[in-house]
Amino acid sequence: MPSMVSWRLRGGAQRVRYRYVHQPNWGKIPVKAPPFAYVRATSLDQVFDLKAQHGDDARILAGGQSLMAMLNLRLDAPELLIDINGLDALKGIDEDGDAVVIGGLTRHVELERSALVATHLPLIAEAMPNIAHPAIRNRGTIGGSIALADPAAELPACVVALDAEIKLVSGAGERTVKAREFFHGLYDTARNDDELVAAVRVPKSPVSRRYFFSEITPRRGDFASAGLAATVEIDGDTMSDLTLVFFGLAGRPILAARTGDAASGAALTGDIDQIIGQVHAVLDEELETQADLHSSAKMKSHLARVLTKRALTQFAAGRS
Ligand SMILES: Cc1cc2nc3c(=O)[nH]c(=O)nc-3n(C[C@H](O)[C@H](O)[C@H](O)COP(=O)(O)OP(=O)(O)OC[C@H]3O[C@@H](n4cnc5c(N)ncnc54)[C@H](O)[C@@H]3O)c2cc1C
Repeated sequence: MPSMVSWRLRGGAQRVRYRYVHQPNWGKIPVKAPPFAYVRATSLDQVFDLKAQHGDDARILAGGQSLMAMLNLRLDAPELLIDINGLDALKGIDEDGDAVVIGGLTRHVELERSALVATHLPLIAEAMPNIAHPAIRNRGTIGGSIALADPAAELPACVVALDAEIKLVSGAGERTVKAREFFHGLYDTARNDDELVAAVRVPKSPVSRRYFFSEITPRRGDFASAGLAATVEIDGDTMSDLTLVFFGLAGRPILAARTGDAASGAALTGDIDQIIGQVHAVLDEELETQADLHSSAKMKSHLARVLTKRALTQFAAGRS
């Protein structure tokens, strides 16, 4: 017979009920997620009311591709999951003047297949196949990726590179935060716990703009050990407005603004290795990398140089 036990989390604030099952060979092991209540929300107001009632004991459930894994690993134990998958107000990819507006509940696969994204946001189109595997992209959402802010995730880096804005909504109203001010650190953002990522407004990329997206992973589909989302204007042979956003190197996407500024005005002709060397020199001074489980900080700095070289070589070759 299954039995129930209680467990007090570190800090003692929350009591979690662990259910045990008998396995003939393993003895008693916990079943997957701790018990939780579940509500499939039918309106944003209902979500706001539930968050107001339950506060930090409630979690928003979008694609579930990160949240359910955290519950199954027992890294989180909320009392209530508020499923937002029925909320049409958070769905869709639409043109709005000089921008594309992507609803927070838009799934990765929809971005990957969108003609609007392919035409106006080629950097995002290029990034999408790098996110995990098709099964995960079928469910995962842009709102979930941005709210979670995994430092190795692709979409946070892309929205920083493209200077997007993130629309947050809560019972108190709505506000907009620039992507470049949204990501504060490891899983830490400008979003308050009661706010939903409702939409992301991304300026359309001018046709003249070139882009580069690449990442280095242990295996295809894994989170990146290091990645780079980059864009540039090239007039004749001269670069301007070089935007380099690295991910997987530290707690959040890093916009290497000084390096981009230093490279502006450089001509992509002649000895490309010399230009790459000059850009590397500024990058080495600017970039602060952090070790993770897979790579040392030194290795990450090396990978950042490799990616920068690839980007500049691609820009010089006129490919994008
Ligand atoms: C094996 C595996 C490999 C993966 N590899 C990658 C990868 O390479 N790159 C990558 O970027 N991701 C990867 N992911 C994560 C995947 O992209 C997730 O889909 C994404 O991180 C979270 O989106 P979600 O919709 O599934 O969010 P959920 O798992 O539902 O939620 C994640 C968190 O965000 C909160 N949340 C969700 N939506 C909102 C919202 N609209 N407003 C406010 N809060 C919200 C939830 O409360 C929760 O705390 C991987 C996942 C798995 C399981």
